Amino acid sequence: MARRAVATRPARPSPYCEDCGGDVWWAWGIHGKKWTALHPERYPLDGTYGTYEAWQDAHGGLLCRHLPPGERGVQDRSWRAAHHNAACGRWRTEATAGLVRESLAAVPVMTDGDLLALGHRLRDVQAAISQEIRTRALSATDEE
Ligand SMILES: [Zn+2]
Repeated sequence: MARRAVATRPARPSPYCEDCGGDVWWAWGIHGKKWTALHPERYPLDGTYGTYEAWQDAHGGLLCRHLPPGERGVQDRSWRAAHHNAACGRWRTEATAGLVRESLAAVPVMTDGDLLALGHRLRDVQAAISQEIRTRALSATDEE
């Protein structure tokens, strides 16, 4: 049984991201059944950064599962991990451009309630952008 599970798993990809060349830790996602590129750092389980719980299996490989913020991990000696996408050079641009493109395409076919909900969420995004710009401006002033 265990042997078959290993045999059906595709080979672990290269330890470098194909897009940006950054180091990644590949962990086998136990729910999605696919290799997941994790940022090569261990974050505290009770922290808020990272949306995966990662741990080593008996063979020294890594396993992971989705771990929402605020939830405690359940595996022995596990840690919180972040997807490499959060640091990948191309992902930020592609993901945010995709968000804008798909939102604009969806607007004409959305219900009134969905439109209000989207508008609310986009205001949160706008507030996060403003906050980030403000924080950076303040820290740049501090460094002078
Ligand atoms: Zn990358």
